[in-house]
Amino acid sequence: MSEACSSCSSAGTCTTDSCSNEPKMTEAQKVNHIHKVIAVMSGKGGVGKSSVTSMLAISLKRQGYKVGILDADITGPSIPKIFGVKGKANGSEAGLIAPKSRSGIKVMSLNLLLENEDDPVIWRGPMIAQLVNQFWKDVIWGDLDYLLIDLPPGTGDVPITVFQSLPVNGTIVVTSPQALANMVVRKAVKMAQKYEPPIYGLIENMAYVQCPDCNKRIEIFGKPKGQTEAQRNSIPYLGELPIDPVLAALSDDGKLEDYQSSAFDQIAEHLAEEIKKNSAMN
Ligand code: ADP
Repeated sequence: MSEACSSCSSAGTCTTDSCSNEPKMTEAQKVNHIHKVIAVMSGKGGVGKSSVTSMLAISLKRQGYKVGILDADITGPSIPKIFGVKGKANGSEAGLIAPKSRSGIKVMSLNLLLENEDDPVIWRGPMIAQLVNQFWKDVIWGDLDYLLIDLPPGTGDVPITVFQSLPVNGTIVVTSPQALANMVVRKAVKMAQKYEPPIYGLIENMAYVQCPDCNKRIEIFGKPKGQTEAQRNSIPYLGELPIDPVLAALSDDGKLEDYQSSAFDQIAEHLAEEIKKNSAMN
């Protein structure tokens, strides 16, 4: 994933002791084999970015892939809660061990390092960004087909660090109808486009509600604009998800792995096509 060492020409991040070229591979990095890194971003908070990241991980896991989630939303970490992963992460000489969810998804989040999950993180941006870097370098992820990164909303220090320092293969943008009005999606897309990895596509969450009695589609935030917005930004449109109280309840109970959604299955199929297309091009 990384280029050959410019000092001694060894492939990848240099591990040759005699070579002075920095940075050296950490112990964790020596045992990690991560095939694809996908960043999930949103223009603003509350659009369902963490939920979509989690559902994506669940869908990939159900397809038989080895999956991990790096929770880079340091000040608003919700991944452990969604998966019901509790307690403190263990460490070893080689690094921090990413705990597994019930179905075997590996998870790392600051909440798994805090004494008390309700403790706030009162850190400045650069420290938070450094921690995200450590989650990449010092966590024992092992063999993964996909590592999903749940970015914090917006275009701050963490997304910049992730795009600059981690070998991101592609990005997914999550939005919702009300957020689109604020132009924040365009900001997020423009930021992601400044960096090399392709944008696999846009997912519009909370696009409508399906009436449980008459099945009518009710667009409570107005007409979904995801498809138009994707076209406008020249990125693929991956699909839309309804507001579903079952999703919210299962997330709250740490049982999102029990959730089934045909709408999300379609999105996962479209995403797989985009990943394939981009892999063929690279
Ligand atoms: P973000 O990561 O963008 O801040 P979250 O994924 O944490 O957003 O979602 C915010 C809240 O909305 C959570 O309580 C989550 O369970 C709920 N939520 C997200 N998507 C949906 C959906 N499609 N239907 C119902 N509730 C949802």
